[in-house]
Amino acid sequence: MPPSGTLGGGSRQLLKRLRDVMAGQGAGQERLDRIVRVIAQGLVAEVCSCYLVRGGMLELFSTEGLKAEAVHQTRLAMGEGLVGDIALHARPLALADAQSHPNFAYRPETGEEIFHSLMGAPILRGGRVTGVLVVQNRTKRHYAEDEVETLETVAMVVAELVSAELVSDVGAIAAEQGEPLPARLEGIPVHDGIAIGATVFHRPEIEIRRVVAEDPATELTRLEAAVGGLQRQLDELFAAAELARAGEHEGILEAYRMFAEDRGWNQRLKEAIRSGLTAEAAVQKVQNDTRARLAQVVDPYLRERLMDLDDLHHRLIQHLTGEVGKRVLPDDAILVARSMGPAELLEYDRSKLKALVLEEGSATAHVAIIARALDLPAVARVQDLRDQCSAGDRLVVDGTNGIVYVRPGDDVIDTISGLVAATRAAEIRHAELRDLPAETVDGVRVSLNLNAGLLVDVAQLDRTGADGIGLFRTEIGFMVRPRYPSVAEQTQMYAQVLAIAGERPVVFRTLDAGGDKRLPYLPYDEDENPAMGWRAIRMTLDRPSLLRQQLRALLAASAGRPLSVMFPMVAEVAELVDARQVLELELERLWHSGRPAPQKLRVGAMVEVPALLHQLPALLPRVDFLSVGSNDLLQFLFAADRGSQRLAGRYDALSPPVLSVMSKLVREATAGGVPVTVCGEMAGRPIEAMALIGLGFSSLSMSAAALPSVKAMIRSLHVGALASYLERLVTAPDRSVREKLRAFAADHGFAI
Ligand code: PEP
Ligand code: MG
Repeated sequence: MPPSGTLGGGSRQLLKRLRDVMAGQGAGQERLDRIVRVIAQGLVAEVCSCYLVRGGMLELFSTEGLKAEAVHQTRLAMGEGLVGDIALHARPLALADAQSHPNFAYRPETGEEIFHSLMGAPILRGGRVTGVLVVQNRTKRHYAEDEVETLETVAMVVAELVSAELVSDVGAIAAEQGEPLPARLEGIPVHDGIAIGATVFHRPEIEIRRVVAEDPATELTRLEAAVGGLQRQLDELFAAAELARAGEHEGILEAYRMFAEDRGWNQRLKEAIRSGLTAEAAVQKVQNDTRARLAQVVDPYLRERLMDLDDLHHRLIQHLTGEVGKRVLPDDAILVARSMGPAELLEYDRSKLKALVLEEGSATAHVAIIARALDLPAVARVQDLRDQCSAGDRLVVDGTNGIVYVRPGDDVIDTISGLVAATRAAEIRHAELRDLPAETVDGVRVSLNLNAGLLVDVAQLDRTGADGIGLFRTEIGFMVRPRYPSVAEQTQMYAQVLAIAGERPVVFRTLDAGGDKRLPYLPYDEDENPAMGWRAIRMTLDRPSLLRQQLRALLAASAGRPLSVMFPMVAEVAELVDARQVLELELERLWHSGRPAPQKLRVGAMVEVPALLHQLPALLPRVDFLSVGSNDLLQFLFAADRGSQRLAGRYDALSPPVLSVMSKLVREATAGGVPVTVCGEMAGRPIEAMALIGLGFSSLSMSAAALPSVKAMIRSLHVGALASYLERLVTAPDRSVREKLRAFAADHGFAI
């Protein structure tokens, strides 16, 4: 019978023996052979084998118990057999009857057919699998959980030997292949823009020199001191975020603090130390577990949390190895990371960063939201990036198309340099436009506003010279927080927005959650078509307390100044009436409290659902303004999902049905004395904006990046000429009138 409970005392003894071997004489291979013997003995197994990654394959490097002639002969691909499975998923496996497992791959040269049970653990370094450690027994042995733990711990010790001595052999093979070649890698676009710069790894691997501890008590004290240091560092980050008025980052940092104070987490670290590891090796072990869990989790919220935890582990190791502090970046740093927490990105000096590239992540990850807010070109999900480049390598990042060029040739650099220079020249031209009015050649003044969702977006008001915030998407502030913000927190959020906006008006849209904008802490019905499901005003009217809290916060934040509130996805006038009633209740409450009210209150509706277009006579007297959410309106008008890749470009915003809807709306609203704006993507594209102005719109809202070119177009436009031409296009039989409008603009010198 194998001994159970090898963790603790047993594990410590095994680690001590391993340390002696590591410190002893002999070349890497010799010592590895001794190590597998010690492990086999320590774990009472007939076989212990070590596979290491070489040339992308898992090669049997050493074995005790399998046939010696298989060493350096048996090679498995990632994912092949049970060993490949452990490597691919970076997680341990324990099977009493390994041969009946569907992934079992029989290799006759090893003579392993007589061994029935198998337990294996990945050998990890810097979050990457560098090999697999396996033990096997003849009997159908049920390996206990603590035995798996011990094998994982032992795998860490082996990782040290591998990196120190054996990998140099592997490296030599790679070096023989000559200069690394250029590569073109694809990912998903996260934020527009193009950049050329030098590779900077976000987390250069921290060398852990000691894995096996002399004395667990000393290690526990070191851990305690490091956790204290980590908590102080988080407090400082908090204070810095507050100083920078980056309110939305607090929620993210709070999630970190929650982990740092979590007892279960602290407990796991201590257990790893008690099994014989040094404090930093213990953190690395718990980190490896987290990463293995990360690989399994598909839920985006949970993945985010596990990535936060991964970040915390890294910070803790930094505290233990004394490598805390800001990194010195080159002036053209392109940050490369497997994943990254949002707080980490904020710690870098923005002025030195040129772009961000992630191996994981998504366009909606927290770090992506921050990258956009910082206007940093970014690409995510670029597989194997870190394997393809080294620190300092030249990279070109095309954030618009989601492409990364590694060590590009001169031709790519020349083309891109031209593009970068042209973009810079355009930026300078646009900066010159900042203080000039958005007025057409024939004297029509157009109000240009920004769409925003974070404080950093609001700060773009000054840079762009926009008139105000035409759409503040309040749900973004909810999305970057770990839990539903209280009324006080919301009040602070909105007050910060107003403080930055100053005299300029801000239109707050109430929570447009649901659909693709899920709040992780709110339960959802799984609608088959989420965009048409329980979202936006539908949800907040069904949960009036949420709406009341938000309106209460908006009223409180706007004390003594004007407040504009807008409701999203209104489908029928009755919904607007109901929402207004909720607002009335909050106004009454405010009145009774004696607290100051907004100086003026304006209530608007978003026009996003076609049904509302057929209720204009009843709607107009009940609103102070309207705003067209063309993103949603167009998807419902054409019954074409706005996120569908296949349908993208199939229907054109510059088509007779859209122009006809817009024309009717602006005519009727203007006749009814109700101002109407467009705040969907359509408003931010010069040619579309030109058509909207030609139809009679005199107010648009768009992203900060889009505003300068729209302003330049307006300043070249003659509305009178365009309006009569557009009238004819509204009834044209064409699928699209884009080309006609383009030609018209070219003939008349309009800068689209
Ligand atoms: C829209 O639908 O056009 C809009 C502005 O709202 P969102 O893009 O946030 O759905
Ligand atoms: Mg919308």
